[in-house]
Amino acid sequence: MPTEFEVQGLRITDLAEEFGTPLYLYDGDALSGRMKDLRDLLHPRLEVFFSLKANPNVAVCSLLHAHGARAEVSSLAELATARRAGVSPEDIVFLGPGKSREELEACLDGGVYTIICESFGELTLIDEAAAARGIVADVALRVNPEFAVKGSGLTMGGKPRQFGIDEAQLLAAPDLAARHPHVRLMGVQVYMGTRILSEGAVAENTERILGLAERLAGTLGFPLDMVDIGGGLGVAYFDNESDLDLADVAARINPLLDKFASAHPGTRLVMELGRYLTALAGTYTVRVRYVKTSMGENFAVADGGTNHHMAAVGIGSFVKRNFPIRVLNRLDESASGDWNITGPLCTPNDTLGKKVALPEVRPGDLIGVARSGAYGPSASPVNFLSHGHPAEVLVVDGRAHLVREPDRPEDLLRAQRLPEGVPFGGSAGR
Ligand SMILES: *Cc1c(COP(=O)(O)O)cnc(C)c1O
Repeated sequence: MPTEFEVQGLRITDLAEEFGTPLYLYDGDALSGRMKDLRDLLHPRLEVFFSLKANPNVAVCSLLHAHGARAEVSSLAELATARRAGVSPEDIVFLGPGKSREELEACLDGGVYTIICESFGELTLIDEAAAARGIVADVALRVNPEFAVKGSGLTMGGKPRQFGIDEAQLLAAPDLAARHPHVRLMGVQVYMGTRILSEGAVAENTERILGLAERLAGTLGFPLDMVDIGGGLGVAYFDNESDLDLADVAARINPLLDKFASAHPGTRLVMELGRYLTALAGTYTVRVRYVKTSMGENFAVADGGTNHHMAAVGIGSFVKRNFPIRVLNRLDESASGDWNITGPLCTPNDTLGKKVALPEVRPGDLIGVARSGAYGPSASPVNFLSHGHPAEVLVVDGRAHLVREPDRPEDLLRAQRLPEGVPFGGSAGR
């Protein structure tokens, strides 16, 4: 066993030296391997769309795309990222409950495959924007279904929600298409929730969503060019969790997809995945600055913390559950005590790991939080205490590439203004 963490043969101490810390390190083989597993195991008609929300890095998106992923985006910047990553418009879907007119217009002008519409008000706006352009917009309906399926960390369906349109409201609107002449309804999307770790729940969701799509398309009289079955496949983070068995997922959903695909030979079948594609590929790496004890507990204070990795705080549970954490430069040493791993913020919540069993931690050590490639910096308060965004490095074919420069103080100050002509202006203090 190597005595230190390596990515494709590159040693963490060298990478930390070259790129500095704190650092998000992504293993390109883990990203491409994930796509390969999905392609090998899941029904060939099922297309994987990468939810950029989970990791909006353009290089990560580009690598996934090179291995077959399309893109699901929710903002102008995500749309631009997907395009720059090489995803063509016909392989991009745009969703989100609060789309602006500008975003809808960008979808129409950029020719994205479909806008996934989440409210009647949005449908009206799409209709107007398309009319102004003299075009007909392809729109899929995001449905908030009546049913809920257990097994998701965060449920999105079967409850009062700001997402999608209630199934009952849609079924009660058979003239929906007629009332929107510049919209062509052509698909259905349902997203049941995130962090699903039950193969049975994935299958049940899929079965119900496919049924719902047929019912809805029948009642409202539109073709099913696309059915997006959501996804929400999770990864295990904590001790009491275990990873999904993808072969088992496939064994359960492929027959459902097969039946549907035969009945609907022209329908694109879509699964949106964020976390499942990127989580395992990423290691958040910080360097220990100080070690100390306080009232009998050990603390390792590192150069990065929850400002880059809010998920590690373990929100939502009373007992803090830790992500997998290791001393990356001394993997061969066994645990000798419990350590609180904290960051540079001035808040007690800035704790990456609480009472983690580790070997004796020393200043200069590199601590790694594994399984951190999803919902990292972009889902964290990176500007809290103005430390800014960390560096991101992607290893491909045994070579490390800086794919995101860390913010510098001037980057954080660039967008701020001192008002002119006021007594507290820039030179007032002199
Ligand atoms: C967040 C989100 C995703 C991605 O979820 P993961 O759990 O990361 O796969 C996909 N679709 C929708 C609608 C989402 O809101």
